[in-house]
Amino acid sequence: MTPTQNISLKPFHSFGCEVNAAYFTTIESSQSLESALDWCKQHNKPFLVLGSGSNMLFTKQVDALVLKMEIKGIQKTNETASAVYLSVGAGENWHHFVSYCVQKGWGGIENLSLIPGTVGAAPIQNIGAYGVEVKETIENITAYDTHNGEWVKLNKLDCDFGYRNSLFKKEKNRYIICKVDFCLQKQPKLRIDYGAIREVLHQKEIQNPSLEDVSNAVILIRTQKLPDPKKIGNAGSFFKNPTISKEQFEALKIKNDDIMAFPISDIAYKLAAGWLIEHCGWKGVKKGNIGCYEKQALVIVNYGNGTGQEILDFSKEIIQSVLEKFGVELEREVNIY
Ligand SMILES: Cc1cc2nc3c(=O)[nH]c(=O)nc-3n(C[C@H](O)[C@H](O)[C@H](O)COP(=O)(O)OP(=O)(O)OC[C@H]3O[C@@H](n4cnc5c(N)ncnc54)[C@H](O)[C@@H]3O)c2cc1C
Repeated sequence: MTPTQNISLKPFHSFGCEVNAAYFTTIESSQSLESALDWCKQHNKPFLVLGSGSNMLFTKQVDALVLKMEIKGIQKTNETASAVYLSVGAGENWHHFVSYCVQKGWGGIENLSLIPGTVGAAPIQNIGAYGVEVKETIENITAYDTHNGEWVKLNKLDCDFGYRNSLFKKEKNRYIICKVDFCLQKQPKLRIDYGAIREVLHQKEIQNPSLEDVSNAVILIRTQKLPDPKKIGNAGSFFKNPTISKEQFEALKIKNDDIMAFPISDIAYKLAAGWLIEHCGWKGVKKGNIGCYEKQALVIVNYGNGTGQEILDFSKEIIQSVLEKFGVELEREVNIY
């Protein structure tokens, strides 16, 4: 394995910042992963796993071997009267995989249509949208455990999935995911309770929606609300929705009657980070090359030649002002390098 040296990562991440990697290689198989890791050992270099870079913020040059995951393949491994089992390569494009399943009539991930990225990265932050999280359909994950130098097969409980979280995020850089096994439904139970989906179906006068109708509704909502990274650099939601105690929520509610939040247990609430940011006056604010997207305050955008450091600094200002106004500390969802 001979990596490419000193390569620009601008085309390989959705913020589109100009940054170079010292070494870069593509990973098409488990064998190519093993030889790339051998190379790192021999040359005493760290590695950085990259999918399609839609949840990465590069704030400095990458002095590591970038492993660009390209392992392909969608294989049906089993089928019952009600379910189909699929094994999918980490380098498959997530939305292509969703479209493939929707076309086949296999349900469970249609609400996750059009989320950018690869299949292998989907479990990292347990991607979610419109009331569905990917953990609901994941059965097993095949990964290389770089701590113990061995291949492991982890089941969904091992993966310790949470809200935008998992074992893979908690033990950063330990596991390199090569294959994800899914179980999808042949008689799908559609999840159309989310307000915006209902509204689109209503507008289109669709009373008995198909998987394709739901997927198309999600695609429509997303294209209207979120910036296209091919046109404006961004990584989707920059921050997580914060969890606060019931007491803290009740205190905030007295001063902010319309605060957007929902209970997640008897003692905790999840707040809409976008609402907090918007009510600090950030929505649509532009500073140089960087801005807070005018249609969705959760999204930080790079209008042109912004650097990762400028984006990070901008996010710090947002965190500080939300903390000052509401006493709530926002956590970044994006992976910072
Ligand atoms: C416009 C836009 C909208 C978005 N909307 C959503 C949304 O609705 N819901 C949501 O959850 N996310 C959303 N995201 C975030 C992003 O799409 C997801 O986090 C996606 O899973 C990232 O995939 P990726 O292949 O681009 O990963 P990358 O950005 O390349 O990597 C993300 C992290 O995962 C690690 N990683 C990647 N692949 C592997 C692997 N095979 N093994 C081990 N580690 C790996 C990387 O090291 C990094 O830490 C959005 C992003 C954009 C740009």
